[in-house]
Amino acid sequence: MYWEKELETIDRRALESLQLDRLNSSLRQAVKSPGYCRIPEISKIVKSGMTSIAQLGELPFTTKEDLRQGFPWGFLSMDKKNVVRLHSSSGTTGNPTVVYHNREDLQSWANLMARSLFSAGIRDTDVFQNMSGYGLFTGGLGFQYGVEKLGCLSIPSGAGNSLRQIKLMRDFGTTVAHAIPSYLGRLFEVFKDEGLDPRQDTQLHTLVIGAEPHSEEHRRRIEELFGVKAYNSFGLSEMNGPGVAFECTEQNGLHVWEDAYVVEIIDPLTLQPVAAGEIGELVMTTLDRQAMPLIRYRTRDLTRFIPGPCRCGRTHRRLDRIAGRSDDMFIIKGCNIFPMQIEGVLLKLPEVGDDYRIIIETIADQDEMLIEVEVKKQWFTGDLDFLAKLENHIARLIRDEVLVRPLIKLVEPGSIPKSEGKAVRVFDHRQR
Ligand code: ADP
Ligand code: ZN
Repeated sequence: MYWEKELETIDRRALESLQLDRLNSSLRQAVKSPGYCRIPEISKIVKSGMTSIAQLGELPFTTKEDLRQGFPWGFLSMDKKNVVRLHSSSGTTGNPTVVYHNREDLQSWANLMARSLFSAGIRDTDVFQNMSGYGLFTGGLGFQYGVEKLGCLSIPSGAGNSLRQIKLMRDFGTTVAHAIPSYLGRLFEVFKDEGLDPRQDTQLHTLVIGAEPHSEEHRRRIEELFGVKAYNSFGLSEMNGPGVAFECTEQNGLHVWEDAYVVEIIDPLTLQPVAAGEIGELVMTTLDRQAMPLIRYRTRDLTRFIPGPCRCGRTHRRLDRIAGRSDDMFIIKGCNIFPMQIEGVLLKLPEVGDDYRIIIETIADQDEMLIEVEVKKQWFTGDLDFLAKLENHIARLIRDEVLVRPLIKLVEPGSIPKSEGKAVRVFDHRQR
């Protein structure tokens, strides 16, 4: 049992007063770092003390660039001898950033993780296989400590080696597994090649998927293939890693743990808060981190608050599925496009297989978007007429969604090269 009822169902007023207390101590801790002690607004507010959360809006943002410039120790707020672990981001968008933890930080992270898993219906009777890379990437140890705290039997299988994953699942009766969504299609193929069906031949009832953007359609496919419920897990190394926001059994948005973070959603251009329920960039401030508190960290992830209370009773607000990172967006023919918009269209179609990639090129002085789409085996026949019609159909559906008509190239299942780790969807080869 890992249900922090009082904290998870706390009323808004009490939550805000708790946040204010924690924010003040977080700021006092933050100014001990070389990076934050140089910022006059922060030193000033530390002297006077904050009297309302709204005052946070007067402080400057912290960006990934700031962290990179401060590399390696610039945002460390305590003596190195008290720090017990460091993690870094996966480096999807450039140089990785590094985050430090002391013992208490690791404890609170494990608590948040255990609470998150519990909210998705996972219990100490489950056998939990973590198919995430262990090491600097936070998906390994981050889940590990949470799963142990909750009391499941954990199988720290690590990433890759699908045959071994399947064997472990079957030998030990895995009931819950965690993986990045782009890996699960591949894992399913290996099940099939082995003459196995995960629905019949495993005891899986839950998958936890996260670490990379994925559409609702993608989730539904995973649920269908594996015969499970799949829950979305969101996190970023700068805010610990997994355990920042998690879907509860209602599967309608991710509760973001507001006793551990102050959450803002801003317009990335004006830097002002968006109107209630509007989509914008997620900005987060840590409330219970000692080794490296971060203030108003611009995550570059785009989402919105889902209005209204959740039926599960938890009062911490829900974030909508991440629409993408601001740096994933590409502009072509004057239209702003996110890969997830395209994924949403593709994965609704039963003929479409597991993978796709978007290639942007300059052809005869024009920017063109070429989308390679894997088609499922049974549809990838020699019937050229059928394939041409399908290409045309997909091109039209995508144009209706993003306002630019792409060139579609249907390809054999398994033919799109896989990236190591998180999926890379967009290849921009434009001459600039
Ligand atoms: P990197 O930024 O190098 O990928 P991290 O491993 O810290 O480093 O990854 C955090 C990022 O991964 C988030 O900022 C977000 O863009 C993405 N991410 C994590 N979980 C999810 C999720 N459930 N849905 C969409 N994107 C996610
Ligand atoms: Zn809920």
